[in-house]
Amino acid sequence: MNIKILSTSYLGVKNYLVEVEIDISNGMPNFSIIGLGDAAIFESKERIKTSLKNTGYPFEPKKIVVNLSPASIKKEGAHFDLAIAIGILISFGFIEDIYSILDNYLILGELSLTGDVKPVKGIIGAALLAKEMCLKGIIIPSENIIEATFIQNIRIIPIKNILELIEFIKTDSIEELVLNKIKNKNLLTLNLNEVKGQALGKRALEIAAAGGHNIFMIGSPGSGKSMLAKRLPSILPNLDIQQSIESTRIYSVIGELNKIDEIIKIPPFRAPHHTASKASILGGGHNIKPGEITMAHNGVLFLDEFSEFPREIIESLRQPLENESISISRVNEKITFPCKFILIIATNPCKCGLLFDEAGKCSCSSSEIQRYQKKISGPIIDRIDLYVPIKKLDYKELFSTEISESSATVRKRVLSARKIQYSRFHSNKLNSSMSQKEISLFCKLSLEDSLILQSIVKNFSLSARSYDKILKVSRTIADLSGKENIGKKELLEAASYRKYY
Ligand SMILES: [Zn+2]
Repeated sequence: MNIKILSTSYLGVKNYLVEVEIDISNGMPNFSIIGLGDAAIFESKERIKTSLKNTGYPFEPKKIVVNLSPASIKKEGAHFDLAIAIGILISFGFIEDIYSILDNYLILGELSLTGDVKPVKGIIGAALLAKEMCLKGIIIPSENIIEATFIQNIRIIPIKNILELIEFIKTDSIEELVLNKIKNKNLLTLNLNEVKGQALGKRALEIAAAGGHNIFMIGSPGSGKSMLAKRLPSILPNLDIQQSIESTRIYSVIGELNKIDEIIKIPPFRAPHHTASKASILGGGHNIKPGEITMAHNGVLFLDEFSEFPREIIESLRQPLENESISISRVNEKITFPCKFILIIATNPCKCGLLFDEAGKCSCSSSEIQRYQKKISGPIIDRIDLYVPIKKLDYKELFSTEISESSATVRKRVLSARKIQYSRFHSNKLNSSMSQKEISLFCKLSLEDSLILQSIVKNFSLSARSYDKILKVSRTIADLSGKENIGKKELLEAASYRKYY
């Protein structure tokens, strides 16, 4: 009898269908697996034999041939175990597939010698494939359940051991787990209320989180720039299902998921050091891999000590920031990775770092200060919406017992501002990426305010780009307080985040 079971394997981050064909005949007793499998697949013969024996289904001495088709693609991993084992049981006539489970489900899972099913990689991709193929669902190791439930509208059958799978095939019923039963494992530990003082910095984070604006923090060493930056994810909304899938795929490919069933739900935070290589920041390498900017996708990229980053890297960040994706080319190959994130850059205000501290402490000459500032100007600076000086806490602030707002409180305001933007743009678009047309449509000013803005732009010789940025930030500030129109207060606050030196 020839039996076919549906399973899957992956190339890059994309899954493809693998048909596991099993043929049992009366020839010389033998068990072989063909179809370009790796060592783990070769070893699956012993795992399957032993696990079936230990669950009460001993092998009869027959000629068993398993073919993994298409045979032209190399396959790796131990996740075909379960499909092969169940195919053998059906071929031997131990169970009958009266509900046509085998035609309607993808099966994947590794077997232990006792017949337990162990978790495997690439579950999200498998679930997506099952959906694309309009199958009823997928049968997966129960430890992979969190990852799989992110794909909706297909049946997920979590299996702890081979006996459970046999039971499912016989009855076509099992208690299905639903998403809301699953705890969010990604608990945040950092909270904005751990940062003393820094009202301006916190306010800028809130605006950035609400409207997706990039921030430039300027302050002396130890003033708390990185403490603030690290807490931006704590006030951002959780990723939606689509974003979760994108980010989890990225981390899954890099092998940075702590556990095989972990899902990225919280916006990621990446902070590459200025000595990191170009490939590790932008992506690349021998087997092209995503870099830090892609790992920051849907989250935050923090470049501390920005002035220390090599010019070449800063220059090559321009295009990805503009496109929200990066293409890496090699001979005959071009791979595009997503990289949409909120950028925070931080630097000292001058060479000695003390320009903003008590008068007279900074030892830099005015030409030195100018030279330093020039070093941090350029392509990336064009992308900044909020300039924020971060000052060291004074004595009073340092010993203040005042309790500051928690991340949860700030996050509530951020979420309602995001809601307003969602109904404005009918998409996940944020104020920071408004087009010219949208700016003129959604950022109308009164005649008086319009004149104020024009005089600010004129007096400080701001660029047209700066003019737009002030309007976009005003829009976000107004959204944070639920105002339909941008008023003078919002406009002046937004204007205070430009760079005037
Ligand atoms: Zn200085």
